[in-house]
Amino acid sequence: IVANELGVKIFDSSSGKIKDLFPGMRNVEFVGRVTQVFDVRSFSRADGSQGKVASFNVGDDTGFMRVVCWGSQTDIISQLSEGVPVKVVGGFVRENQRGFKEVHLNDSSRVVVNPDDSVPEVKKNVRKSLKDLNENDVNVEILGTIVQVFDPYFFEVCPDCNARLNKSGDKFSCPAHGEVVPSYSYVLNVYVDDGSDTMRVVLFRNQVEKLLNKSKEEILKFRDAPEAFDPLKTDLLGEQFRFIGRVKKNTFFDRLEFTANQVFPVDESQLK
Ligand SMILES: [Zn+2]
Repeated sequence: IVANELGVKIFDSSSGKIKDLFPGMRNVEFVGRVTQVFDVRSFSRADGSQGKVASFNVGDDTGFMRVVCWGSQTDIISQLSEGVPVKVVGGFVRENQRGFKEVHLNDSSRVVVNPDDSVPEVKKNVRKSLKDLNENDVNVEILGTIVQVFDPYFFEVCPDCNARLNKSGDKFSCPAHGEVVPSYSYVLNVYVDDGSDTMRVVLFRNQVEKLLNKSKEEILKFRDAPEAFDPLKTDLLGEQFRFIGRVKKNTFFDRLEFTANQVFPVDESQLK
């Protein structure tokens, strides 16, 4: 009963602002502007049926949210680009495995492009120097030069929900969807230097694609031919990027690390 009352209270106090959307909320509604759009991906389920998933990031004057679309909801992606005002109606909020909030749309959800509502400008991120980052900083922006690139690491995920899979023998199973044909996700670590300090930046999947400017299919080839990745490492050295994300303490190595949820190449004009 306590949890229920708490849930109701949290929901009632929702302002429709992104900062007030919390994991577990259902039928949320908010407006914002598209900040980043990711490709539609197709996948096969264990029963042989085909699925589609796509996502985009939305910002308002309080924060950012990733919006995940499934099936025919992915059709909206072709109408979206950076800066487009949208209203998201319906869907539930959950926290992904990297600690970022996401809204997952369902069959009754709608994404309204150019809604009648007044749509705030996207909050300017707090830009920090690496030396000024603190443990648990969120929605913070850093800008730096890539000084070291590691090999990508591949792992099996559920094609339906992206959860990491358990392996037994040569079979893979999802906690929610049972035995599945695994899909692959990837993580890439780089070191970034901004003149004040150097920090490890951890990038997952969509962010790896943005950083490398490669598709999922192109990146998956490095799983079978890791040596083909070497030239990319060299190409990335000295390149500048803006990263938005959060700071986490790696307790094993006792150091701060940056997990990116948005990545943008920096062109020279932005530096002036
Ligand atoms: Zn699953």
